Amino acid sequence: MNIAFIAHDKKKEDLVSFAMAYEHVLKQHTLFSTGTTGERIMDATDLDIHRFASGPLGGDQQIGAMIAENRMDLVIFFKDPLTAQPHEPDINALIRLCDVYTIPLATNMATAEILLSGLQRGEFKWREIIKSGNERKS
Ligand code: PGA
Repeated sequence: MNIAFIAHDKKKEDLVSFAMAYEHVLKQHTLFSTGTTGERIMDATDLDIHRFASGPLGGDQQIGAMIAENRMDLVIFFKDPLTAQPHEPDINALIRLCDVYTIPLATNMATAEILLSGLQRGEFKWREIIKSGNERKS
């Protein structure tokens, strides 16, 4: 599965802890992230992550482009609800695209834990079916 990570500055510590706790699961997947988030996770784990630009510089939009191409299977986005972000429109666009393409999205640790449990139980197989259907159509 292709999994994307994004964390706002005050949530980066939480996401790093989350990635450490689930490293054994995450290493079986293809990982993407915004710039600084990915750097922080890679410093703390042995995970290999494809890093896009930093969020305020377009990273959210790059992840959004993968969603629009139906190439992203899960988005873990630890949002900071208490701090205004300069790239709020990009954040809203990313969340909107997850809804447009029915992509599982966790915006906090509690939801992320549940989605990772589902991933471990093989509950994301439907994504493979959708993706293979898309490939047949193109
Ligand atoms: P960053 O971007 O990982 O480069 O900090 C995340 C964000 O703030 O949207």
